[in-house]
Amino acid sequence: MEVLSVASEAYPLIKTGGLADVVGSLPGALAAEGVSVRTLLPGYPRVLAGLDEAEPVAVFDNLAGGPARLLAGRGGGLDLFVLDAPHLFERPGNPYVAPGGTDWPDNPQRFAALARAGASIGQGVVPGYRPQAIHAHDWQAALLPAYLHYDGGARPGTVVTVHNLAFQGQVPASLLAALGLPPSAYTTDGVEYYQSIGYLKAGVRFADRITTVSPTYAAEIRTPEAGMGMDGLLRNRASVVSGILNGIDEDIWNPAADTALAAAFDAGRIAARAGNRAALQVRMSLAPDAACPLFALVSRLTWQKGIDLLLTALPSLLEVGGQLAVLGAGDGGFEDAMRTAAAAAPGRIGCFIGYDEALAHLIQGGADALLVPSRFEPCGLTQLCALRYGTVPVVARTGGLADTVIDASPMALAAGVATGVQFAPITAEMLEAAIRRAAALHREPATWQRMQTNGMTTDVSWRDPARRYAALFRDIAR
Ligand code: ADP
Repeated sequence: MEVLSVASEAYPLIKTGGLADVVGSLPGALAAEGVSVRTLLPGYPRVLAGLDEAEPVAVFDNLAGGPARLLAGRGGGLDLFVLDAPHLFERPGNPYVAPGGTDWPDNPQRFAALARAGASIGQGVVPGYRPQAIHAHDWQAALLPAYLHYDGGARPGTVVTVHNLAFQGQVPASLLAALGLPPSAYTTDGVEYYQSIGYLKAGVRFADRITTVSPTYAAEIRTPEAGMGMDGLLRNRASVVSGILNGIDEDIWNPAADTALAAAFDAGRIAARAGNRAALQVRMSLAPDAACPLFALVSRLTWQKGIDLLLTALPSLLEVGGQLAVLGAGDGGFEDAMRTAAAAAPGRIGCFIGYDEALAHLIQGGADALLVPSRFEPCGLTQLCALRYGTVPVVARTGGLADTVIDASPMALAAGVATGVQFAPITAEMLEAAIRRAAALHREPATWQRMQTNGMTTDVSWRDPARRYAALFRDIAR
């Protein structure tokens, strides 16, 4: 069957977070399930530069204030449609943020145009192409089911996936006409959302199915505590809401053949990780200590990720004799605080502020434990990479972290099934306790190695998730 995937980013063409990983990896896994995916992306310079065999397949005379066309081709290992609309997307750098750090003021129009183009593809604007289902990712694509609804007529089935409910796409009500929506759409039962227009709200309202990226997060977002204003509607639509865990790309994340590593290894050769540990210590200016627990953080540096909790817990981490390797970028305050912490603990805390794919791989291949103290986490990918690379995840018990890590409780240790350490409630004190627990487990090499092996043999691939998505698409195919 044919599925159109619509998103604002896809690895390796353009990435700001886990969304890009999912959009880039899922099509390959779905192919094995007999589902053929084409991905619609905005024509940012980097996407256009990565597009091969481009061929114009449709033209829009006026899309959000200018002419646009759809190009079909291959790029980044994907079958692509690219929305070539220079007035919206011919801008350098980050897809959402202008140089200077604020969102592009016309983001509402830019991503409405993406959704509009996706809806038009669903209605047959590309000769010879009719997807049976459309998969719209996050708020940037979430107006798509609303366009199909208000247009009326034949349409494919629709799935909206919420990768992070914190980003909802709320825009001024005055834009209604400019977005090409009828006056009648502005009701509680339409696209209206707290006196504005809600893109994700519209998607959740009109999609045939709503998924999010873990079963626990799917349950959490239906509660007032984690629902961020949308829990009422999500409860209302509970019968079509489900959680499907993300996987990771086993070719990109393969410790036996990873060129970013100093030493290749697998579950049968865990000792070889020592070479990566030593390389990591050199790279991050950490003391060459082969025995201490080496903790790591690979993360956006934001409140969601619990960076302030980790900053509070640093003295405890040092007290148990730990080292810390930090790779991250985000809020300036957290970036500065991490640099300061590293300067105050030379040889014990190493910090690289910035985005570095290869370093992320070396960290996963060389650290002992990965810290993920997120306040909420829809799925989380870094703990999946950690499991696969024999880095023991130490995680907050929330969302996908709760679903993918088996806590080293006395029971799980006795049964030999533990893969990591979880903590709750999500406070600095409980993170400190988790760090102490991890350090104690690390002092028992047999127990630690068992946890590593359990993690490395856990299936974190896309196989099972792809089967679930394929079943969902078949359910709603039109
Ligand atoms: P989120 O999408 O909320 O940022 P995820 O855990 O779902 O978090 O995905 C984050 C992805 O980005 C992972 O693939 C992780 O390895 C990667 N990543 C995050 N920060 C960095 C960084 N500074 N350098 C390299 N990779 C990073």
